[in-house]
Amino acid sequence: MKKRKYAQKLFSWYLFILLSAFLNLAIGAQETAESDKDLLVSPLLVKKYDLEFRVDIKQGKVFTEGYLNVANIGNNETEELPIILYKDLKVDAIKCQNGNDLEFNQNVVSFPDEPENEVNYILVKLNESISPGTERKFYIRYNGNIDESHNTDGYVRDSINPEFTYIRTETTAYPMVCYPNYKNRRQTFEHFWTGHPFDYRVKIILPKEYVAANIGRLIEKTETKEGVQYIYENILGAWRIDIMVAQYACLNDPESQIKMFFFPEDSEIAEKAFRFQQKAYRIYTQWFGPINDTPTGFTIIQTPGWDGGQSDVTGVIQSGRIDVRAFPGYAHEIAHFWGPNTPEKYRWINEGQASYLQYRLLKEMGDEKGLEEGMLRRRKAFIDYIDKYPEARGLTLNNYVERGEGKHDHIMNYHKGAWLYYLLDIIVGEDTFNRIISFLYNDFKGSLVTNEDFINQVEKVSGKRLSKFWQDWIYSSKSTEFLLDDLSLEEMAKKYL
Ligand SMILES: [Zn+2]
Repeated sequence: MKKRKYAQKLFSWYLFILLSAFLNLAIGAQETAESDKDLLVSPLLVKKYDLEFRVDIKQGKVFTEGYLNVANIGNNETEELPIILYKDLKVDAIKCQNGNDLEFNQNVVSFPDEPENEVNYILVKLNESISPGTERKFYIRYNGNIDESHNTDGYVRDSINPEFTYIRTETTAYPMVCYPNYKNRRQTFEHFWTGHPFDYRVKIILPKEYVAANIGRLIEKTETKEGVQYIYENILGAWRIDIMVAQYACLNDPESQIKMFFFPEDSEIAEKAFRFQQKAYRIYTQWFGPINDTPTGFTIIQTPGWDGGQSDVTGVIQSGRIDVRAFPGYAHEIAHFWGPNTPEKYRWINEGQASYLQYRLLKEMGDEKGLEEGMLRRRKAFIDYIDKYPEARGLTLNNYVERGEGKHDHIMNYHKGAWLYYLLDIIVGEDTFNRIISFLYNDFKGSLVTNEDFINQVEKVSGKRLSKFWQDWIYSSKSTEFLLDDLSLEEMAKKYL
């Protein structure tokens, strides 16, 4: 998972992985080898995690115990509870609800369909099978170290250490209920789409000088004789858990419920970045309406910079030093809160949108040239790329993933996609444009938007038939020629007005 899914996405230092992008890649990867059929897939999934992490930073170890609520969503009963964990995390107890110990085996194994991925595989034999449609609660206790710091080619270098500790999905630092194969592990994320997100409550116990950060709601922070203890709960249904531990400083605006954890060495610029992101959130909300019925705000968490970054609707994980040059990138990530989810092959709908809005926002904030200059940089990057890879010239937004096998997706998603939105904004006018984004987001919550959905939605909301526009920008490579030909924005827009 780490190498295959993540490394390829680290295009630039501000370009983070959106929740949907991650899941869509997973969905896109469905056509794998035939041996896929022989891989075991458990009908069980986790409904709720209630875990306590005692982090021993000096020794680089974590001691975890807590509960998993597990549900059977399949059609058959099962007598097996398969769990995977980081290879050096060893389970010393699993109990059923009444407190009785359960028998289990554990072994370090590699995924048959992704051999570089090694995990500790724990197989629990249940005394009583779990029937379809029912739920069961299990207790688990495990400990060990996490250390991927030797991993130089992948971006996952998570470990438990005094500078920065990361406990998260990529290293399987918390138990995942699945068999040890890529197919089943992928499915644990896809449950999010099929209406089975999970809830979590995590307690993190640390030495006093450390802070635990999470994108959930802080329920409690208490000093104990051991150190300090944080309790977080997810705000919206989750598909992953991220716990960061460092000597963080924190900014908090209770009114907007926006919060930021950052490294003290970035204190000066952090305040500016915080204000910028608050403002970005406010403007997007004015444009497109609130993201959720109940406003949740969001949490920004800074990480050292090798970790990839993430974003979902209640948080943004920002990699690397805070820098004014990264502000448009921050605006991009926040724009993603309103982004529709798409299958991998239509990811331009999502990335193009954020890639355009990040500059539209700059203009709104008073940087008159911000939009034009940002979009010209995208155009130039697009042209330079086509010069270098002429085979990408004929690709369209309807076939770029298949034809280029995803190789050219960067320029199509981020540059051409953004230019499509740029033009659309002019063609339909700002207010209608804002309504289109809002409807796309709200009408497709929990489902995936295709090119056809996008077109229908734009035409429905704007009341305009735009066949020629779609033909040039989605179904043919004519738009590539326009961008290469130095046609101005106005000249292009005129074709469709
Ligand atoms: Zn993005």
